[in-house]
Amino acid sequence: TVSVVLFTSDLRLHDHPPLRAALRSADEVVPLFVHDDALAATGFAAPNRRAFLADCLADLDAGLRARGGRLVVRSGDVADRVREIAAEAGAGEVHMAAGVSGFAQRRERRLRDALRADGRHLCVHDAVVTVLAPGAVTPAGSDHYAVFTPYFRRWSRERLRDVMGAPRAVRVPDGIGSGPVPARERVDGVSQGLATGGESEGRRRWTAWRRRGLAAYEDRHDDLPGDATSRLSPHLHFGTLSPVELAHRARASDGPGAAAFVRQLCWRDFHHQVLAARPDAAVADYRPRHDRWRTGTTAREEITAWKEGRTGYPVVDAAMRQLLHEGWMHNRGRLLAASFLTKTLYVDWRVGARHFLDWLVDGDVADNQLNWQWVAGTGTDTRPNRVLNPVVQGRRFDPDGAYVRRWVPELAGIDGPAVHEPWKLRKAERARYAYPEPLVDLSDALTRFRRARGRE
Ligand code: FAD
Repeated sequence: TVSVVLFTSDLRLHDHPPLRAALRSADEVVPLFVHDDALAATGFAAPNRRAFLADCLADLDAGLRARGGRLVVRSGDVADRVREIAAEAGAGEVHMAAGVSGFAQRRERRLRDALRADGRHLCVHDAVVTVLAPGAVTPAGSDHYAVFTPYFRRWSRERLRDVMGAPRAVRVPDGIGSGPVPARERVDGVSQGLATGGESEGRRRWTAWRRRGLAAYEDRHDDLPGDATSRLSPHLHFGTLSPVELAHRARASDGPGAAAFVRQLCWRDFHHQVLAARPDAAVADYRPRHDRWRTGTTAREEITAWKEGRTGYPVVDAAMRQLLHEGWMHNRGRLLAASFLTKTLYVDWRVGARHFLDWLVDGDVADNQLNWQWVAGTGTDTRPNRVLNPVVQGRRFDPDGAYVRRWVPELAGIDGPAVHEPWKLRKAERARYAYPEPLVDLSDALTRFRRARGRE
């Protein structure tokens, strides 16, 4: 017997329930990845993620070959391609991970219907892309948690499924063409400092960080210049690492660092369970605040300055330039940059979320859109009108200014925390730095925001 395993956001061999189940019930397996035309049409396939994906597929193929198998790659309509491969291989079952977004939910329905019409069965597996399946825990009277803390309390009490090792051998039926595994070098417009993808790289990074970074994570996760977070987000997004495995391993390490890291994995699950229940939250306000976001020429110019890292607020500009250069941004930078756009410039969160999706290697519909909504105060934040001050935040999380000097080289000549307020330099000295004046006055912007939200 033969089964097909359709890989999506789970590009790994370790701890992979669909592959395990397929290998248990069939003698041969077709490990399949489909470049889905429908996904490309959404504009979601940004260059940084396409390049990272290429690494992931090459590594998955290599991992399968080391076990006697290979990856089969197709492109086009995912339901058509899966149907064809299943027919070609004579497969009775297709296994895949449950998805979360509206896109993934529609894909799953289409696949189920298409396969059923051919007398085949789609087996969908939970707890592959998240630690707990969305909907695994719910509060009384609702299909999802809208507040993090009670979710976290409940999530923490759940027993996790066991971790599965990678299979020793994978037999692929003869006669099925492999198809081209894309090369990262063929993708244009990629950030210079983009990280490497693939399960091997993900496992290396996790092992190294668990030894050297995890214990201090609680103290150092907000340290902008220290860059001391795990940087595992693209691996979690593409599923080259299993969130269940990470949660087990982190729980096995005692201490506040491990506990804080597990809490972050729960944030990820939290946003996934919100999106699974409310797929429209990818585009519509989760909690409408009736904002009349700024539009028009001035707003457009300010948006461009924000995207290019020219707002005149050094820590915001540093974060925005890190995004362009690496396709990744520190969480504290994301919070600051998003608060600046939505609350200081009072621009629609969707504008910022789109720009992040265009560049982030970990760009994820659940995590990106719902974090943007959280910051904008249209989401699940219980304090929706708080505004982060970029100067105060810069001095606090980049106390010596090293993060700013790294990413805004035209200010590299300013020592210490003074780099956060170049406008305070004496005129002659200020003139030496080719760096813009602040786009807006912070107190004017705060008044505008409070008025708009009816807080004044
Ligand atoms: P660590 O601090 O090492 O955390 C470990 C893991 O926990 C991360 O890899 C991530 O998977 C998860 N995690 C941590 N914080 C969050 C969070 N707030 N929400 C959800 N998961 C979290 N994360 C994405 O993975 N994709 C996105 O598109 C994304 N967009 C964001 C947009 C905004 C405006 C903000 C404020 C945050 C966004 N985040 C996003 C969350 C967070 O910033 C990143 O997950 C984190 O910076 C990744 O770095 P790391 O792997 O070193 O994280």
